[in-house]
Amino acid sequence: MERNRSPRWYWQLHWQILIAMVLAIPFGLLTGAQGAGAVGWLGDLFLRLLKMVVVPLILFSIVAGVAGVGNLKGVGRVGIKTVIYYLATSTAAILVGLLLANLIHPGDPTLQGLAGKPEGMAEAAPSLKDLLYRLVPDNPVEAMVYSDDDPQRSPNFLGMIFFAILFGLCVLALPKGKRERATSMFETLFSIMMKMTSLVIKIAPLGVFALLAKVVGTTGLDAFASLGLYMLTVLCGLLIHLGITLPLICFLVARRNPWRYARALSPALATAFSAASSNAALPLTMESVEKRAGVPNRVSSFVLPLGATVNMDGTALYECVAVLFIAQCYGVELSFVQQLMVVLTALLASVGAAGIPHAGLVMMGIVLGAVGLPLEGIGMILAVDRILDMCRTAVNVFSDSVGAATVARLEGEKVSWPERSEKEEQKS
Ligand code: ASP
Repeated sequence: MERNRSPRWYWQLHWQILIAMVLAIPFGLLTGAQGAGAVGWLGDLFLRLLKMVVVPLILFSIVAGVAGVGNLKGVGRVGIKTVIYYLATSTAAILVGLLLANLIHPGDPTLQGLAGKPEGMAEAAPSLKDLLYRLVPDNPVEAMVYSDDDPQRSPNFLGMIFFAILFGLCVLALPKGKRERATSMFETLFSIMMKMTSLVIKIAPLGVFALLAKVVGTTGLDAFASLGLYMLTVLCGLLIHLGITLPLICFLVARRNPWRYARALSPALATAFSAASSNAALPLTMESVEKRAGVPNRVSSFVLPLGATVNMDGTALYECVAVLFIAQCYGVELSFVQQLMVVLTALLASVGAAGIPHAGLVMMGIVLGAVGLPLEGIGMILAVDRILDMCRTAVNVFSDSVGAATVARLEGEKVSWPERSEKEEQKS
């Protein structure tokens, strides 16, 4: 009886998070750097908790997911569908960016004065060979480590995923008895990590408040005026992708109500937005997609960690707009072939970008280099990158989540909203 009564609205997580976000803005504006300093520790603590769970969560999730599929053919099928979804949505996002940047033409030669290469940026943009090397870690344990000495250094998620998939495939190759025992052990370990994530999710409203208040309190508003048109172009593109392209896929292919799906995802989206990191949001994405949106673990355990690392629609769109904007500022009109190069390299840059703050900015070197623009151009967009990073990260995470529902549907999985199935169970 008790379980049937739905909790009051203010106990519902998505409302709590929304309220936290609304309160953080005036708090940040009114208290500035002082307020940011006062709540900063809370945001950092939230991020530390997320980092604490994310590595074992990814590892156990992928091994359990791959082994749980049961056969090599099944893993290959899920893998191909996932990659097709990633490529299709990222390309769609880039094309929207390309169209808008050509239509709105935000670049203006008067902004050239902002050019200037931030320290270490050129060296940080990896080549194709680096990407390949990152995929195959020589030390899988090191690939899983966060560094306290260098807070910017995140684990090598790509290498870790490669290792975990290979590990899962080797579990599949074991004789039946051992295979079943190993699979059930990893499923149990994964369930434990999901329980831990459920605990962390409870403080998401506080964490989101602190992270957002810190950003608002420490970001100046001056840069926004001169780069307004550029920001508008990126934001319009992200909005089209978030509000039209992805909901259409969610509705038509995944057969889910997009609004309800987004609401179920709100803890993950809010965390992605305020932390500007797909990796930090991953534990909440997994919890929300499985527990709040009812996508089966067999698919989400594979699609989501991989997506958080390589599928970045928002980043791809932003790379494209930013490079066209920089070209316009330098007075360079890019030819059709050069714009095609931008599309291809933006896709590559989004795949290579890590799921951490400003990774897309670092990867821009690849796209700029491909069309012969100087790296110094990055300096023009630096001032407003944080806010755009927050928005594109939320789009990245929503795309991963819609991908999980889409692949699950294409795999013929029965998907239902958890609350409804609970009520149905009680009725029957
Ligand atoms: N911050 C983004 C993410 O974590 C990557 C980027 O900088 O575009 O998804």
